[in-house]
Amino acid sequence: MDPEQQEPLLTLNKIHCCYGGVDAVHRLSFRVHQGQIVCLLGPSGCGKTTTLRAIAGFEPVCNGEVRLGGEVISAAGYTLPPERRRMGMVFQDYALFPHLTIYDNVTFGLRGLSRRERRARADELLELVDLRGYGSRYPHELSGGQQQRVSLIRAVAPRPAMVLLDEPFSNLDVDLRERLSREFHDIFRDQGVTAVLVTHDQHEAFAMADEIGLMRDGRLLQWDTPFNLYHEPVDRFTAEFIGQGTLIGGRLLDHERVETPLGVLRGNRAFPWNPGTEVDVLLRPDDVRITAIAPLQGRVVKRAFKGAETLYTLRTADGHQLLALAPSSIDHPVDAQVGIQIDTEHLVAFPRHEQEAGEETLWYPLHAANA
Ligand code: ATP
Repeated sequence: MDPEQQEPLLTLNKIHCCYGGVDAVHRLSFRVHQGQIVCLLGPSGCGKTTTLRAIAGFEPVCNGEVRLGGEVISAAGYTLPPERRRMGMVFQDYALFPHLTIYDNVTFGLRGLSRRERRARADELLELVDLRGYGSRYPHELSGGQQQRVSLIRAVAPRPAMVLLDEPFSNLDVDLRERLSREFHDIFRDQGVTAVLVTHDQHEAFAMADEIGLMRDGRLLQWDTPFNLYHEPVDRFTAEFIGQGTLIGGRLLDHERVETPLGVLRGNRAFPWNPGTEVDVLLRPDDVRITAIAPLQGRVVKRAFKGAETLYTLRTADGHQLLALAPSSIDHPVDAQVGIQIDTEHLVAFPRHEQEAGEETLWYPLHAANA
């Protein structure tokens, strides 16, 4: 059955969270279905942690409601205590009990099971995260990544209704962060866990989540799949927060085509604005291809080797800068002349406001932790 047709497991309905009368979260609504992994993503101070704490029951809501499986667990004047919500938490600082062994940490929340059943559950989960044989060690005898794996399985062990994760990888280095995000995703899938993750790191969000809510100033800007958030951002902020790219000024020729200094671009949609409207067109590095022969020519001004791919900064003869991602097996040195082809299947444009006229922006992922 399509999960969208099921009753949602978690519903946030126009919640407000206030500190001293000031809204930190404003009319926030979203739904999470059984088995889904969702992520709240956004810059520091946008209200992600407050929202997660409201779901966990650590923060009251001053308006709206939170429902779990149809039951209201938070509303103005009512907060079901955290321990009665059947939710597991994973924190950035692991929060393992230092004086308990790994085995005792993992089995800590397992009530109503025999000793043998508790051990079987712990062994099954330790195996899942490659920590079989570590049960009698203490947390300080494990690496940061291993401690976080234990903290994950401790949260999952009692089979909670859902798991909430607050920046779970931010203490770890970039490579480990990405690896653990993928590992956690697979474990959640395997165990049928429903999860809400909070992070400011889009790589983590992309690696883990089925759907992402991008927040700014306590509000939800876009709730979408990682693919759509990247390729179909609803506004400039989202476009700039997610990934890299260039905004090139242009003018609508009709509802489908935009005239730009790089040529006439046509996407796969009809724009709602009138012909003649000034717009900025979003070009992602993967929309820009380097080819041997193309009418549009440019010069390589910078390149960043990224393993399988290289990110090039190109400048056209009339001074426009573009980012292009190309397989690193073919090397284009700085100053090389190259052909540029623009693949505009996901052509995204934003109407240009007067105060922005004349600005042309190119950005690298300033907000990505591994920029
Ligand atoms: P970060 O990524 O830095 O953790 P965040 O997106 O999780 O940020 P929150 O911690 O939810 O943001 O904070 C949202 C807003 O609420 C911020 O403006 C913050 O200053 C404010 N805030 C958070 N906690 C409190 C508090 N206990 N008292 C007053 N204001 C608070």
